[in-house]
Amino acid sequence: MPEVYNWQLGRKMQYPYEEKHPQWQFAFVFNTNRCIACQTCTMACKSTWTFSKGQEYMWWNNVETKPYGGYPQFWDVKILKLLDEAHQKENKSAAWNLAQKDGGQRPYGVYDGMTIFEAAQKRFGPEGGQRAIGYLPTDEEWRAPNIYEDTATGYKGAPGEYHKQGATLPEHKTWFFYLQRLCNHCSYPACLAACPRKAIYKRPEDGIVLIDQSRCRGYKKCVEACPYKKSMFRGTTRVSEKCVACYPRIEGKDPHITPDGVPIETRCMAACVGKIRLQGLVKLGPDGQWLEDRYNPLYYMVKVEKVALPIYPQFGTEPNGYYIPPRWVPKGYLTQMFGPGVDEAVAKYRAPSRELLAVLQLFRTTQQIIFRYKIIPGKKIFETKIDGKKWEMFNDTVIGFNKKGEEAVKLSVEETIYQRPQQYQNSI
Ligand code: SF4
Ligand code: SF4
Ligand code: SF4
Repeated sequence: MPEVYNWQLGRKMQYPYEEKHPQWQFAFVFNTNRCIACQTCTMACKSTWTFSKGQEYMWWNNVETKPYGGYPQFWDVKILKLLDEAHQKENKSAAWNLAQKDGGQRPYGVYDGMTIFEAAQKRFGPEGGQRAIGYLPTDEEWRAPNIYEDTATGYKGAPGEYHKQGATLPEHKTWFFYLQRLCNHCSYPACLAACPRKAIYKRPEDGIVLIDQSRCRGYKKCVEACPYKKSMFRGTTRVSEKCVACYPRIEGKDPHITPDGVPIETRCMAACVGKIRLQGLVKLGPDGQWLEDRYNPLYYMVKVEKVALPIYPQFGTEPNGYYIPPRWVPKGYLTQMFGPGVDEAVAKYRAPSRELLAVLQLFRTTQQIIFRYKIIPGKKIFETKIDGKKWEMFNDTVIGFNKKGEEAVKLSVEETIYQRPQQYQNSI
């Protein structure tokens, strides 16, 4: 099996196809700290793409309550269990070697465990026909998209009672958080790897992963192999479907929104009420590495500030969905989900640098995809102590530019307030 380089794992790994990368990659950063689980994103996708017969249980975007919720139910627990069993059988540990951490090339160290592709090789052999370990969810598991909504972990001291000390950072004793999910348009998609019909492809222009409906024969191998369970089977047409990354919008070809052809964010991103989503395109080199683009907001948050982390990088698909982890959740749980960069990412978010605070303002302020930002320094407006250290806030102005280099949005850290003159106070 060919070897490809997975920068999130800091090493080469086995993958059924030779290494090949698109020019640009669709990617996104979600700030889990801000999500209110209103499901506006979920409905924006459903009302655009999956409102037809046979798509009733198809939620390309969903928001689930962790740790118990999941769509399909227990998707991550089940794949983690399969991976764990594979490690136990081989007497291996799914650990990260942090000693080999190196800023750009191996930002999270080196993953010493097996990916879903490598575990399949071990279990079934090179000719075994199984490209990735996985499973097919049952009908029941697909039935309730928002099961365990707002359900927190139990209070260990006295079940059923309120917590005596209340909830304080750095870690809450009872907790839950919202996890927003869609297809990660992975660099090494397991859905694509598993398809015996070669019906799934990754677009060279933007890395979006699509299923060719005319080639698909509904074998559901993609549904089985995708560790994130984001490929879904449609009973009425008997072919699989998945998130299409709203590609007409990425191409700047949605005639209602982009008459001038600039790329705009997808429906689920543009509709986000909590302003937790920032989506974009990052430029790749021929080796699949992100080309240095210091003032691209995604590049800055993932590669420079390292405040946003990939979801379950150990699966090995190199997902292009990145998350700012929730501050109040036990670090062990978060490390399992987002890898070993969690402590650093949470610390960076708790006391954001001047630049990060300005960049965080860009979330959901324009439908246009921001390719570059610029910060104009402003006055100091606030000072406090965080974790015993002095922390200062400045009213900087951040400007976001679209693909054509035109100004798409301009706003300051401190929200502008307009005070209505007294004579108009009770009028409209
Ligand atoms: S998240 Fe799943 S469906 Fe999407 S590209 Fe990755 S493997 Fe394929
Ligand atoms: S990117 Fe578009 S197709 Fe994909 S989940 Fe979001 S709204 Fe749906
Ligand atoms: S629209 Fe935004 S805030 Fe609402 S559930 Fe979706 S991601 Fe969360």
